[in-house]
Amino acid sequence: MLKLNENYLKLPGSYLFAEIARRTAAYSEANPDKRLIKLGIGDVTLPLPAACVDALKRAADEMGDKATFMGYGPYEGYDFLREAIVKNDYEPYGAKISADELFVSDGAKSDCGNIGDIFSEDCVVAVCDPVYPVYIDANAMAGRAGEYAGDKWTNIVYMPCTAENNFFPALPERVPDLIYLCFPNNPTGMAATKEQLRPWVDYANEHGSVILYDAAYRAYISDPALPRSIYEIPGAEECAIEFGSFSKTAGFTGTRCGWTVIPRALRRGGESLYDMWMRRQSTKFNGTAYVIQRAAEAVYSPEGREQVAGLIGYYMNNARVIREGLSSAGLEVYGGEDSPYIWFRAPNGQGSWEFFDRLLHEANVVTTPGAGFGPSGEGFIRLTAFGDAENTREAVERVKAML
Ligand code: PLP
Repeated sequence: MLKLNENYLKLPGSYLFAEIARRTAAYSEANPDKRLIKLGIGDVTLPLPAACVDALKRAADEMGDKATFMGYGPYEGYDFLREAIVKNDYEPYGAKISADELFVSDGAKSDCGNIGDIFSEDCVVAVCDPVYPVYIDANAMAGRAGEYAGDKWTNIVYMPCTAENNFFPALPERVPDLIYLCFPNNPTGMAATKEQLRPWVDYANEHGSVILYDAAYRAYISDPALPRSIYEIPGAEECAIEFGSFSKTAGFTGTRCGWTVIPRALRRGGESLYDMWMRRQSTKFNGTAYVIQRAAEAVYSPEGREQVAGLIGYYMNNARVIREGLSSAGLEVYGGEDSPYIWFRAPNGQGSWEFFDRLLHEANVVTTPGAGFGPSGEGFIRLTAFGDAENTREAVERVKAML
């Protein structure tokens, strides 16, 4: 008889966003005259940079002409984009990555989720708590998480990130095989320093672990001393895989393009992880669309760079408005300086959901309860800077008035 992948059946429902939607809809239905402002959204709101739109159109014309039509592309992506990424996102920061260590993807989520294909089901996985849920759920689907026991999986190593450790995890006692790190972090909005990352690289090399470094928010780092890539840390090329994305950098959430770096020096069990991932990709993935790769390449053109800087500046101004506004109202606020996320503690010991409800009912602002990202998120709220500037300003004023 056909059997299902029972690991899927162990997954809890996608409770967080469904519950936010349910509470928001119930409030709107009962109060149709109230205008809600959403500061919970993780999606961008500004359109693609004009340079990317122009490149998309030019590439579409090429596809419509027999002389320039492109069929299947290389599994690992076109050289023009791999080289542009390395030249602009690695070389200037002293990260010694070459174009032939990089795979173009259809976004960071797929690769963060699929990378587990090249590792054993027995691998022990460590994640920060709170965490971007994809890392845990993808490993639960692969049978690595054990059982879901209330708010945690029995076989996942949770590394608490709290105000006490400045939202940076301590090296775990139980040595994991796979360690997901994400900086700047979703949801806490905190970036990591080189000094903080160095012991992780040394630890992974000492124990044979692999760091899965999610740098989806690297473009939001404003402090030049902070690393944009794990490969700015010596030795990382022997222990780390890195994921990048054009989603939040250049508004590609709906356009879909990212990349994964697997250095040639990264070997485990005598095998090259680059070769294993290539084997996986060539079997299960036929590449990112040519037109999309051309649009991504345009991110690095002189006009593209200027337009991207404009997008990021717009969102970071929102982040500043939120951070300064909430701090001035006496809240304990984190993030928002090198990241589009702001993480703050609900006042007077209130729970995440309790304060979410107050913000919804009294300020008509929709947020994301921190508890939804893991047990250590309890008592916190996440806001994003991806909204409209005017609405963001108004939302902050409403929260201040409520407090
Ligand atoms: N990684 C993190 C930490 C994210 O927050 C997100 C999106 O919200 C992603 C990856 C997914 O990025 P992409 O749109 O490139 O799939």
